[in-house]
Amino acid sequence: MIDSHIHTEFSADSEMKLYNGLEHSRKIGLGMTITEHLDLKFPTGTDFAFDIDKYFNEYGKYKSSNFMLGIEIGMQEICLEENRTIINKYPFDYIIGSIHASNGADIFNPKTYQGKTKKEVFEQYFSSMVDCVKQYDFIDSLGHIDYISRYATYNDNEIHYHEFKEYIDEVIKVIVYNEKVMEINTRRLNNVDAYNNLIDVYSAYKQLGGKYVTIGSDAHHAEDIGNNFMLANRICEICNLKPVYFKNRKMELMSLF
Ligand SMILES: [Zn+2]
Ligand SMILES: [Zn+2]
Repeated sequence: MIDSHIHTEFSADSEMKLYNGLEHSRKIGLGMTITEHLDLKFPTGTDFAFDIDKYFNEYGKYKSSNFMLGIEIGMQEICLEENRTIINKYPFDYIIGSIHASNGADIFNPKTYQGKTKKEVFEQYFSSMVDCVKQYDFIDSLGHIDYISRYATYNDNEIHYHEFKEYIDEVIKVIVYNEKVMEINTRRLNNVDAYNNLIDVYSAYKQLGGKYVTIGSDAHHAEDIGNNFMLANRICEICNLKPVYFKNRKMELMSLF
């Protein structure tokens, strides 16, 4: 199995040394795809970018059948073409497209939720996601559909499928139509509510024609690599989805644990 979502020190918010990541992944018997952050035109006024030439120079020599180099791009309509240019320029194995900001607001920032209802902010989040998955036709997988649930400030932060079905179904339909896949981000799977709700989301994905998922821990520390992978496996079994990873932008099947 491959952990397809890992941030090392090229990402502005991670200090993980590749060496420690390699050591830990070897110990637990997982392969890795590194996916450093690229968030252009971020609402904070800065670009979260990294030196991609240096990334390939320094990490390229470790590439193998179970070590790949990818990227996680923050999708916003305002930087579609800049992102496309970067993706076309480098030999990434894998591209995650994620929503970290919507309508000029940083999902991570508590101020985004002040004075606004859950319905308002979450619908904005999902409508950005719909717009971006339609336009970002060069991604491989949609990252952490439940990202907003990590940082929202409501009593109930879950993206209940029945509550946002209209949006979630549209996101899924575009992904299926464009032959992209969804990621199972394992970060929140040890939360029972999150786990149960995500089963509804991935069941809908299956029902609407989805077949494949990538699985990623979103680790920013070596010891978090492979976190909750057993739970992701269980979601694959329950929802009848096949886990995959990408190498040279091509989908490869993985076997369950
Ligand atoms: Zn992310
Ligand atoms: Zn990430």
